[in-house]
This record gives sequence, C-alpha cells and structure tokens, in this order.
Amino acid sequence: MTVIKSCLFSLSQSGNLNKLAKKLGPKLGIHSFIAGTNLVELETNIYRLNNRGVAVTIDNLGEFVYYEKDASEATSRILDVIDRIYLKGLNGHISIKLTQIGLDVDDSICLNNATKIIDYADQKNIFVNIDMEDFNHIESSWNIINELTAKYSNIGTVIQAALYRAESDVKQNKNMKLRIVKGAYKESANISFQMKKEIDNNFLKLTKIHLLDGAFTSIATHDHNIIREIIYFIEENDISTSKFEFQMLYGFRTNLQDALVEKGYNVCVYMPFGKEWYGYFMRRIAERPQNINLLLKQTFNKFFTKAY
Ligand SMILES: Cc1cc2nc3c(=O)[nH]c(=O)nc-3n(C[C@H](O)[C@H](O)[C@H](O)COP(=O)(O)OP(=O)(O)OC[C@H]3O[C@@H](n4cnc5c(N)ncnc54)[C@H](O)[C@@H]3O)c2cc1C
Repeated sequence: MTVIKSCLFSLSQSGNLNKLAKKLGPKLGIHSFIAGTNLVELETNIYRLNNRGVAVTIDNLGEFVYYEKDASEATSRILDVIDRIYLKGLNGHISIKLTQIGLDVDDSICLNNATKIIDYADQKNIFVNIDMEDFNHIESSWNIINELTAKYSNIGTVIQAALYRAESDVKQNKNMKLRIVKGAYKESANISFQMKKEIDNNFLKLTKIHLLDGAFTSIATHDHNIIREIIYFIEENDISTSKFEFQMLYGFRTNLQDALVEKGYNVCVYMPFGKEWYGYFMRRIAERPQNINLLLKQTFNKFFTKAY
C-alpha cells in the first residue's frame, strides 16, 4: 500500500475532521457519493434508482459513536428509515454498522439496539445487513451476529476477502445471506493479504464457494474483470439469478449497473445518506484516489451553477 493511501486511511479515522466535515459537507460536491443528507433527498434518489430496476440498501451514516445516548439516537434514526421503506413500498433494505449503535460503548448495549432494529424490520419483512468494519471490531461483531441469527432470519453480513479468516467465515456461515467485498480497511500483514492480486483471487474463490454451497450471495465490487469472471462461472454452473445480486456503491459505475440490469441480473446499490459522511467518503478516496475527480467535478459544477 502506498504512503498516500495509508495517510488517507488514517485520516478517515479522525473524529475531529468528521466534525469539521459535517459543517462543510453541503458546500462540497458530496452528493456524487452521498444519496442525500435527509430523508426527503434520500427518498427522491431511491425512486430514481428503483425506476431504473435497481434495488437499494440504505446506510444511515454514522461512525465515531462513544456514548449510549448517541447510539440510541442512531438506532431511532435507523427505525425511521425502516418505516420509510415500509410505508412507501420502496425496493430496498438497510445496512447498519454496529459501531454506530454502541459497539464501542458496550457489547450488551449494542446487542440491545441491534435487536430493536432487526425485530422491527422483521415485523415489516425487511432485511438487515450488518456491515463489517475494521479487524478490531470483527470478533465482537461476529458474537453479536451469532446471537441475532439464533433468533432472526432477516439478517446477513459481510465477508472481507482481504482477511485470512474470510474463507473459514464463509464456510461456517453458508446458510446466511453474505455480501462478499474486498475490504475497505487497512489491516496488517499478520491478518490480511496485502497484494491486490491476492485479494482479488480470494474474492473470486469466496464468491464461488458461496454461490455453489451457500444461501444468497451479494457480489459487491466495481471491478469489471471480477464481474466478468463471475458471470462466466454463473453461466457455466447454471446458477439461478435468484441466488445472487451484484452490489455497487451509490454514484459509482452507473453504466455498468444498468448494463447488468439489462442482462437480467439483480443489482442493488448501497446508498449512504446523512450528515456523517466523512469516514465513508475518505475510505472511498483512500481505496481509489481517482474518486476525488468525481468530487471536484461536482463541486465546480455547483460553483458554476451558483455564479451564473
Ligand atoms: C455494496 C458495497 C458494500 C460494501 N460494504 C463493505 C463493508 O461492509 N465492509 C468493508 O470493509 N468494505 C465494504 N465495501 C468496500 C469494499 O471492501 C471495497 O473497498 C470497495 O468496493 C473497492 O473495491 P472494488 O472491489 O470495488 O474494486 P477496486 O479494487 O477498488 O477496483 C478494481 C478495479 O475496478 C475498476 N473500478 C473500480 N472503481 C471504479 C470506478 N469508480 N470507475 C471505474 N472503474 C472502477 C478499476 O479498473 C479498478 O482497478 C463495500 C463495497 C460495496 C460495493
């Protein structure tokens, strides 16, 4: 990993810069990556995607939560999103981060909040994905996920192909809906692959294992080479389109999303929304510094539209 990438990853974990970004956000062109800062903007964007035949998974952004009160406020905001999906009949579900609802406060507080969310979503027949965060949170996240899956079936989680433990996690959780990703966090060589080629190979391996043996697979990548190879594998093994979907992040590779829908595949877009966009945004820049171009384009467009 380059020094620049490393610096960007460290910056993504700064709570102070997160505070500053909250104030500056609307002035920057963050709307290329963030599907709105409130529910009204979010809903407009969901309709736009649903009309293109694309489903959505909604992330009510929030990180750096260290107090019980903040965790419970975040939980209430997530319940509001579930209501919105249900009442408006949107084609979507939610993605949550356990640190947002108390994992850094206390495991039992987090489990309580997660249970509230999953139970509420279950009553409305809505699926909840539990996103996977950095390695320091993995063991406690799996403990909570295991408690929840003993009671609920509307839950899935994420496997990060960069991690050595990923293959064993996939094999142990073949009955769960799993999203396979490369991994957005910088991890050390004793626990994770460091070379892009190794991560790509593991991504392919894990996706194939879950497609053949597992429950539903969400193939979450913008990498056209990987997508091409997976499609070849799916056709060769006659895997039904009802057993998988392609997932991409909001604002990325829209043409590729449309091309996959056109070919009859399920596509789901991850929609981050809210004011706490900083950590999410910085990880996107760190993993692909060219993404800054999108932001600059949007910011300059905004400036021009205002000036004229
Ligand atoms: C839906 C979704 C959910 C996720 N959830 C999690 C999670 O819970 N936990 C976690 O750790 N990570 C998560 N991630 C992030 C993930 O781990 C990766 O960091 C991120 O997806 C970047 O990897 P990539 O597979 O898209 O391809 P990269 O390795 O970034 O890119 C590979 C190649 O794809 C092409 N490419 C990529 N992006 C673009 C673009 N914008 N335009 C044109 N070409 C492009 C380029 O040719 C590039 O070389 C998620 C990602 C997605 C899509």
